[in-house]
Amino acid sequence: MREDINLETFRKRLEERQKIILAGKEAQKKEHTTVELDHARVGRLTRMDAMQQQAMVQAAARLTDVERQRIQTALSRIQSGEYGYCILCDEEIAEKRLEFDPSLLTCISCAKNAEKH
Ligand SMILES: [Zn+2]
Repeated sequence: MREDINLETFRKRLEERQKIILAGKEAQKKEHTTVELDHARVGRLTRMDAMQQQAMVQAAARLTDVERQRIQTALSRIQSGEYGYCILCDEEIAEKRLEFDPSLLTCISCAKNAEKH
C-alpha cells in the first residue's frame, strides 16, 4: 500500500468522476430519444446524418464505458491496497500522473509502450 500518496483524496476524486459518468449516461439516453423523436417529426435529417449521429453517440458511450471500468478497477485497487502500482509492471505510478488522472492504472513507461503497439 502506498503511504506517500493521499489515497482518500484520490478515492473521492474517483467517486466524483464515477457519479458524473453515470449522470452523463442518463442524459445521453434522454438526448438520444429526443433526436429520434425530432427526426420522425421534422424529417429533416437524411439517413446519412442520422447514422453519423448514432455512430458519434455510440463512440462517446464506449469511451465513458472504458473510463468507468478504469475507475471501478482503481477503486477496487484502493480497497485491496494495490492502488498506485502499475497493473503491468508493479512499479509505483508517479503521484503527478495520478493527480492528472486518478483512474490511470499504468506507469508512464508502460503507457508509452502501449502507445507504440
Ligand atoms: Zn508499468
